[in-house]
Amino acid sequence: MTYAITQTCCSDATCVAVCPVNCIHPTPEEQAFGSTEMLYVDPATCIDCGACADACPVDAVVPVDSLSAAQKEYAGINAAYYADRAPEPVAGPVFHAWGAPSYPRSLPHDFAPIRVAVVGTGPAGMYAAEDLLLHTNAEVTLVDRLPVAGGLVRYGVAPDHPATKGAGEVFARFHAHPRVRMHLGVEVGKDVTAEELAAHHDAVIYAVGASADRRLGIPGEDLPGSIPATSFVSWYNAHPEVPPEAVGLSAERVVVTGNGNVALDVARILVTDPAALAGTDIAGHALAALRESGVREVVLLGRRGPEDTACTASELLALTHLPGVELMVDDQDPRTGAAIDGAAPGSAAALLRGLPRVTADWSQPPPAGRRIVFRFHSSPVEVLGRDGVEAVRVTGAAGEEEIPAGLFLRAIGYRGRPVPGLPFDETAGTVPHEGGRVTGMPGTYVVGWIKRGPSGGIGANRTCAAETVGTLLADAVAGALPSPAYPAKAFGRLARRRVRQVVDARGLAAIDRAERSRGAEHGRPRVKFDTLPALVAAARTHRLRSPR
Ligand code: NAP
Repeated sequence: MTYAITQTCCSDATCVAVCPVNCIHPTPEEQAFGSTEMLYVDPATCIDCGACADACPVDAVVPVDSLSAAQKEYAGINAAYYADRAPEPVAGPVFHAWGAPSYPRSLPHDFAPIRVAVVGTGPAGMYAAEDLLLHTNAEVTLVDRLPVAGGLVRYGVAPDHPATKGAGEVFARFHAHPRVRMHLGVEVGKDVTAEELAAHHDAVIYAVGASADRRLGIPGEDLPGSIPATSFVSWYNAHPEVPPEAVGLSAERVVVTGNGNVALDVARILVTDPAALAGTDIAGHALAALRESGVREVVLLGRRGPEDTACTASELLALTHLPGVELMVDDQDPRTGAAIDGAAPGSAAALLRGLPRVTADWSQPPPAGRRIVFRFHSSPVEVLGRDGVEAVRVTGAAGEEEIPAGLFLRAIGYRGRPVPGLPFDETAGTVPHEGGRVTGMPGTYVVGWIKRGPSGGIGANRTCAAETVGTLLADAVAGALPSPAYPAKAFGRLARRRVRQVVDARGLAAIDRAERSRGAEHGRPRVKFDTLPALVAAARTHRLRSPR
């Protein structure tokens, strides 16, 4: 019996570091690392020790004989990665460089602790903070504009992916680290300037992500009911800036443009049986709306063919196992069927091979049941309606067609926002940098999507953070960091002068306790507070639990 890596793989290579026989690939030292959808266990060399499963932050590693029905294919998917590959040499215990990061080597033993601010508490910021805390004696100030930590782990990962949210539990261990000061609810560029933050620290790492949505630039895009998928994701994740009424689900048909993993997430949530979501941390208002939802059909538009679909094969595979939901392919363009028939084994397109192909008649309401229709070689050209979305005009092989729909979601990617005080590349939507150091700004760094653009899952941020932290530490050793002008506690005082309710680590723990306890009453992992005042009020409850 061996282990297999499954759908939730985050590719952060924690498993690689603990594998004693080098049976998980690609490793961070191999060229393919970062270019494969996931990591794979070689069944020929796995010794079944389970170290990888214990270490995996997202519960992705499973003994082959314990794979669920929806995971069964992963035994073959793991094995297939090694089919044409010579076995990796195994000579006794394996110690990867990954397990012993290289940058501490460049820090002299008696190097004085530096003070580093990390702006943003999502995966990129937390991998950077974790690197600094585990491998140096740096003090870390965590800053987030929201009064709660987590970034996209809390507000991006779909509620029906609880294992992926497990990464958040790993990051949370560092929130209360003795060398961490936490100031949540403080926005850099609004409450404090980038200059002020820099003046209180040796270095600042911006991990602010890509929080804006991209636009199509087509007529009708701003009609009520035409919204970015990012808003829909925030809505079902109880983001305090997206109100319950931001999404209406009375329509029978929803059109989604884009076919990346975000498009799959929103399509899946729209057609999943609400009973299956009732045990998750989905927003209460979203669960109520989904229970009353009229949506029976989601049409996913891909502007290119199945061979170029942007979603990962593992997410598409999971969709094929969604109970009570039929998947089908609109065969309006002859190139679609040809590409699916000729798709490479293991690719996302190959997974579409077994699906029914239909010539959709959009003039008819969707049939009974719930279904997702993949339509390729098709882009929206106009959103139609008087007071709200009534239809979407789309391109097709036989000219333009109108698809009646009451909700139109554009899942065409995220975009970084400029950070006041930092340079910004308007074309890429990122901050220009060299190895993570912001161009022309000594002591200022970027990591994650604001550094490299909005692509890659959670684990991709680990290597990204390692590069940025490596550059920062090399600069520290070279004496290239500007010295802070203020003592360590001064930034906290400044933040509290500017913001009435700054949430610290104890406040964050209070929010966590309160949300879990609300969840326990309903058999859910947590019930999130969905407004800023509610989050701040929950954070304050720790002061009421005063020690005797
Ligand atoms: P994405 O993977 O970049 O997909 C964007 C989609 O939008 C593509 O299908 C793209 O088509 C399409 N598109 C872009 N511009 C368009 C336009 N003007 N008109 C029509 N279509 C357009 O982005 P994402 O889905 O937002 O995901 C972002 C990252 O987060 C990805 O790396 C994703 O894997 C990750 N993520 C992972 C998970 C998970 O692991 N479960 C969940 C969510 C997100 P083209 O390919 O033709 O450009």
